[in-house]
Amino acid sequence: MIIDKSRVVSLVYELRVDGSEGEIIESLNDAKPLTFIYGTGSLLPKFEANINGLKVGDTFRFDLKCEDAYGFATEDAVVDVPKSVFEVEGEFDDQLVKEGNAIPMMDGEGHRINGVVVAVEGDIVKMDFNHPLAGDDLHFSGKVVEVREATEEELQHGHIHGNGGGCGSGGGGCGCGNDGGSCGSGGCESDCETNESACGCGH
Ligand SMILES: [Zn+2]
Repeated sequence: MIIDKSRVVSLVYELRVDGSEGEIIESLNDAKPLTFIYGTGSLLPKFEANINGLKVGDTFRFDLKCEDAYGFATEDAVVDVPKSVFEVEGEFDDQLVKEGNAIPMMDGEGHRINGVVVAVEGDIVKMDFNHPLAGDDLHFSGKVVEVREATEEELQHGHIHGNGGGCGSGGGGCGCGNDGGSCGSGGCESDCETNESACGCGH
């Protein structure tokens, strides 16, 4: 069976920045593959395009330019946030909110986003909300571990079940509870929010 729309795909890969000899920033192995429903927009479109038609055991190796991955870093994503936003019961945690630390936050629509503290100046915390991989060209090399048909239910929910995971069963650093889900490389925050709201299915 080959990788095609509405099939569940498991794969492992190494992700490097700056080409095939670059630094490894993410490494998945057989014990913890990335599993997702192909063609549902959970991964980068160019990533999916590069693995289309592969079958179990096939290897892949390709580059994604940053404009096809997480885009360029922009000044617009660097924002001055009032220090009071970070106060908990009137206390500003200067151990947590300090230069270089990544802070999980919510945007105006309740989506989780990570911001990195650029500077703390007076009453202002300068935060950088660019994706950590913004501006980076990505190099993927890996192998297809499994390809199967998605179940009706999985297609309805837009995420995989089984593998001990599924909605509401916890697990996964992203909090979407979708074990082995689409959180590895597809822009975790937005995917997980989607999964979370689509869930409520008790699986
Ligand atoms: Zn579900």
